[in-house]
Amino acid sequence: MGLILVVMENGASGFTDASRELLGKARELTKHQDGQVMAVGFGPQSEKALRRLAVDRVICADSALLASYNPAAYEACLDQIIKANAPCITLIANTTLGIDLGAGVASRCNLPLIAYCTDLQINGNKITATSQIFAGKAVAEIRIPDSGAIVTVLPGVWNADTDVGDPDFETWPVDTPQMMEVLKVIEPETGDVDITKADILVSVGRGIESPENLPLAEDLATSMGGVVSCSRPVVDAGWLPKARQVGKSGQTVKPKLYLALGISGAPEHLQGMRDADLIIAVNTDENASIMDVAHYGTTVDMLELMPALAQRLRGE
Ligand SMILES: Cc1cc2nc3c(=O)[nH]c(=O)nc-3n(C[C@H](O)[C@H](O)[C@H](O)COP(=O)(O)OP(=O)(O)OC[C@H]3O[C@@H](n4cnc5c(N)ncnc54)[C@H](O)[C@@H]3O)c2cc1C
Repeated sequence: MGLILVVMENGASGFTDASRELLGKARELTKHQDGQVMAVGFGPQSEKALRRLAVDRVICADSALLASYNPAAYEACLDQIIKANAPCITLIANTTLGIDLGAGVASRCNLPLIAYCTDLQINGNKITATSQIFAGKAVAEIRIPDSGAIVTVLPGVWNADTDVGDPDFETWPVDTPQMMEVLKVIEPETGDVDITKADILVSVGRGIESPENLPLAEDLATSMGGVVSCSRPVVDAGWLPKARQVGKSGQTVKPKLYLALGISGAPEHLQGMRDADLIIAVNTDENASIMDVAHYGTTVDMLELMPALAQRLRGE
């Protein structure tokens, strides 16, 4: 095995957890194979954090042009770094930015793109990626070719790496045409809670029926020590903010407990929660697809269950 390249994504306060999650896995893959892990960060603001990553080498593309995400400039820069270093695999978080960047770089470098990856394994000296395809309806096992590949990994499948190291540091000369100027970055609504960090999610779907019933879910979540998340129709109806949405166009979560209340289990929803440690489904329809992924299921009415369970948990 040669080099694994990890692309670090800038967040509001340092590198995002989604990109830090890739570091530990990269180290694990190279540990017994005499390989190296190299991380690349963009913009002057990434230098300090890069110098403390627990990897072998880091590259800082420290042009002010790269301080904010700029697709053409990021792609051109990463293209040069990949061509100069020939990594056997390039890992990027499967975030909004990562999907955009990964596709562009794969096209520029003429490398395959493996998106929605949920695992990486080493067999001999070959890396195999597990990837969700057809909106999570099927799972593919893909052997990475010797020429390399760009792999975007779903957030939440591994833990964010907090180890500190002292890597070899290199500044990358940025020589990219300024095809686009970023004038302003408008941050998406972050919401009041980060559902990706919660151990317990009480997740409501269209079965909640009306926003007047949401306090029942909030009350249950509080008595369980968890937070409320939801399926997309609940967000589309404006009953909960987008930050609470689980699924393909929402957040990927991996809580210890995912209590799915009145959620049918569409592939786009399952894509965001199927790796939860324990899934309990409450759905009046015993044939709902959520029952196929749930560890436990019940057909009781969620509107009756929520207050009763909250009361029981509070010992009332
Ligand atoms: C490109 C694309 C992206 C998408 N992204 C997402 C995404 O990120 N997240 C997401 O969730 N969806 C997403 N969707 C939508 C997805 O396809 C489904 O439409 C959605 O997940 C359905 O939500 P639901 O399960 O809450 O509603 P429904 O499918 O309507 O299911 C409601 C369920 O509640 C049950 N129920 C009703 N009343 C009760 C009761 N009193 N007690 C118990 N159970 C009850 C019903 O039996 C039913 O199974 C996306 C779709 C597309 C096309």
